[in-house]
Amino acid sequence: MKHVLVLGGGFAGVEAAIALQKSGVCSVTLVSDREYLFVYPISIWIPTHGIDFNQVQVSLYDIQKKHGFNLIIDTVQKIESNNSTVYCSKQILTYDFVILALGANKMKHSGIEHTYSICGKPEVSLELRNALDTLVKQNKGKIAIGFGGNPKDTSAVRGGPAFEFAFNVHQYLKSKRIRNNFEIHMFAPMAEPGARMGKKAMSMVNTMLSNVGISKHFGKKIIQFEPSNIVFEDNSKLNADLIMFIPASAGHEVLQQSDLPLNEAGFAIIDDTCKVKSTSNVYAIGDSAAIQGYDWIAKQGHLAELMGKHAAFNIIQTIKGTNKRKGYHSHLNILCVMDIGNGAAFIFRNHKRAFVIPMPIVGHWLKQLWGVYTKKTKLGTLPRIPGM
Ligand SMILES: Cc1cc2nc3c(=O)[nH]c(=O)nc-3n(C[C@H](O)[C@H](O)[C@H](O)COP(=O)(O)OP(=O)(O)OC[C@H]3O[C@@H](n4cnc5c(N)ncnc54)[C@H](O)[C@@H]3O)c2cc1C
Repeated sequence: MKHVLVLGGGFAGVEAAIALQKSGVCSVTLVSDREYLFVYPISIWIPTHGIDFNQVQVSLYDIQKKHGFNLIIDTVQKIESNNSTVYCSKQILTYDFVILALGANKMKHSGIEHTYSICGKPEVSLELRNALDTLVKQNKGKIAIGFGGNPKDTSAVRGGPAFEFAFNVHQYLKSKRIRNNFEIHMFAPMAEPGARMGKKAMSMVNTMLSNVGISKHFGKKIIQFEPSNIVFEDNSKLNADLIMFIPASAGHEVLQQSDLPLNEAGFAIIDDTCKVKSTSNVYAIGDSAAIQGYDWIAKQGHLAELMGKHAAFNIIQTIKGTNKRKGYHSHLNILCVMDIGNGAAFIFRNHKRAFVIPMPIVGHWLKQLWGVYTKKTKLGTLPRIPGM
């Protein structure tokens, strides 16, 4: 029986491992350095006490128990595709097929240690919560929230959670009746952050920011961070007691140590079937892969899952000796329920259309429901809705 290694236990890796195991045509081992799948989209509520840290995790042991693949908790260090070998901290593994689903690293910024990120290691969301708690205790403060871009790969930007965090902090402070004692600022180097969501969504988000008194500092390159400042290219500074910053993504460090073709930003170059260029048995999915297609495309969780499903399908068909293949290009879109603490906006964009639907109150509960659905379907305690 062919053996498939899946590296990474995020949305992409878990989806692929489940689909491969279900096929019965191969044995599957998932390798992750964390014991849990972290449901990033609902982690935005950790700093504002909207959800507990452990409610954002799904144990990989529990997922394994339900679906039956092998699980190894270890850190991948290097992949040698020319001899089908993966080097981990505690062991060396070989494979017939490998799927890279390790997520991404972050771009390095000078002084980044003076910031917190909602998109970094899961534990940082707790540090961010503590820092916000300190300001709330002081009853006043200046909060700056921003995100960066990667000029080498425009799909590596993650701005949505920054907007969500800003609106949730506003709502949280308002619920404590102390919003007037705080300044909230947003900053980003692009002149039109959020433009990839489409014109209507961007204009709506801008209006919402103004309506809730969040000031905007857009269009200036970030030079560095100081303990209480963001320094911009014109040497102006934005002063803040707390800085939440989401650096753009860059290729995972393991990929830099491996013998695989990477784009300029360090992501694995793949074809439509998610197979890594110039290889026959290496696939890359989710945030690890270079996504090609449109200048508005973003690396997202639902795309990571779709790529996981399709890579699994393509490996299964290869093992079965058929010519059937599935590609990800025709499914590219932006799909996001942008939470604002007391509602949300449903944002959609593909190559044909872009629209936004405001969902006051109910949108917030829908996103919470999606979180419950996601966790339960991974554990098999709730059936999946086709296409979700
Ligand atoms: C705060 C936040 C909010 C978001 N909101 C949304 C949203 O609303 N909608 C949406 O579609 N997307 C959203 N996203 C994006 C989405 O979460 C990512 O695109 C998705 O998580 C990518 O999945 P992945 O499996 O490729 O990578 P990851 O989720 O990053 O998973 C990578 C996995 O690899 C493991 N790993 C890493 N390095 C190693 C190593 N060396 N050895 C072994 N294992 C390793 C990690 O532990 C992890 O299990 C959000 C992201 C963040 C951070």
